[in-house]
Amino acid sequence: GKGAAMVTAVAYRLTEQARHIQQTLAEFRLSKNQLLEVKKRMKVEIERGLKKDSHKDATVKMLPTFVRSTPDGTENGDFLALDLGGTNFRVLLVKIRSGKRRSVEMHNKIYAIPIEVMQGTGEELFDHIVHCISDFLDYMGMKSARLPLGFTFSFPCHQTSLDAGILVTWTKGFKATDCEGEDVVELLREAIKRKEEFELDVVAIVNDTVGTMMTCAYEEPTCEVGLIAGTGSNACYMEEMKNIEIVPGTEGRMCVNMEWGAFGDNGCLDDIRTTYDQAVDENSLNEGKQRYEKMCSGMYLGEIVRQILIDLTKRGFLFRGQISETLKTRGIFETKFLSQIESDRLALLQVRAILQQLGLDSTCDDSIIVKEVCGTVSRRAAQLCGAGMAAVVDKIRENRGLDHLDVTVGVDGTLYKLHPHFSRIFQQTVKELAPKCDVNFLLSEDGSGKGAALITAVGCRQRELDAQ
Ligand code: BGC
Ligand code: MG
Repeated sequence: GKGAAMVTAVAYRLTEQARHIQQTLAEFRLSKNQLLEVKKRMKVEIERGLKKDSHKDATVKMLPTFVRSTPDGTENGDFLALDLGGTNFRVLLVKIRSGKRRSVEMHNKIYAIPIEVMQGTGEELFDHIVHCISDFLDYMGMKSARLPLGFTFSFPCHQTSLDAGILVTWTKGFKATDCEGEDVVELLREAIKRKEEFELDVVAIVNDTVGTMMTCAYEEPTCEVGLIAGTGSNACYMEEMKNIEIVPGTEGRMCVNMEWGAFGDNGCLDDIRTTYDQAVDENSLNEGKQRYEKMCSGMYLGEIVRQILIDLTKRGFLFRGQISETLKTRGIFETKFLSQIESDRLALLQVRAILQQLGLDSTCDDSIIVKEVCGTVSRRAAQLCGAGMAAVVDKIRENRGLDHLDVTVGVDGTLYKLHPHFSRIFQQTVKELAPKCDVNFLLSEDGSGKGAALITAVGCRQRELDAQ
């Protein structure tokens, strides 16, 4: 009768709906061959970045860091460190002691950077930073100490020495004026002078990947790679000097800040980018830039999810076809929410509670779909990131002419640390795509602060040697 026909119609609509949703998500499911292809392309871009002739136009910039060795345990002294460009802005005091009972002691304070400062003028941004340093020195009672400072600045910088770094371009949520093309160490020194309250000796500018590698290498000498899977995405590793054509000299190694977030900016990933990835890019502060980062990192995963949910809603498959104001709001799905939604320990009812918290009214079916969308997007992120890392460790292996490489990767970042599945899928992908490498992953404890201090210590020592 009529009832049976209706039931059939509803069931039909449901399977139709399921089919459409699966079709949408299928684009995000990458095969092993596709991932191997991504690894191969990363390798190509790495070479382009390293070679003198192609460096200028390369998307993966392979920036020299002037860090030539990992720590050896003789680092010693008291240092200030700044950490700008991750989830939090922090000022730190780091006390490193060498010798038999080597130790690192840290004190730090987190400061907010209001969005109008992140996206205001460069002068305002650096004045704000110096204001926070001033507050920190008061708090520690160290205003008159003139400490050496390491500046962890997690953006692409062209370095010509340990203490000079010209900002190539802002990434993530930053867009302060008059900084791109400028030496950020000078901008910091000028702001300190303007304040006329204290003196500091800025010794090193450090990318967060490099700080992370150095921190892990302090405990584990086989660590020669650093990875950040957090707000942004990037890696560094120890490259042979002879391969870094833009730096004179062929002896030994130097750490290279890859800036792999820009992978794909020349279109080489277009065949796997979806319309949702394009929408996220168009909505961002830096359209056309950091395309790989926008597929892999915490700042953007939630945005990809949001774009998919908007589309599914428009097509009537979700939220009863109603696009709420919340769903229109940029940045609602922070890493911590995605991590909660994907937690295996959560019952669907709790997923609904989280969505409710975000202002999204969901049915039970809705919550199942949302969870699947999140899982698919974060799985692809972990796999893409893994494909990049597979290219890096294989490159190191080939550099050394080895059939087999044992290496440790130091890792930091909110996505890696908070997300319930990212790290596992990432590691599994590296293993599958680089079978000739045995890769050990080591979580860094506070890599940005400690690493900056270690690098500053090496910089101070080098300076003393140079002065002799
Ligand atoms: C920046 C890198 C940084 C990474 C992780 C990217 O947006 O360009 O310099 O290492 O984020 O913080
Ligand atoms: Mg950080």
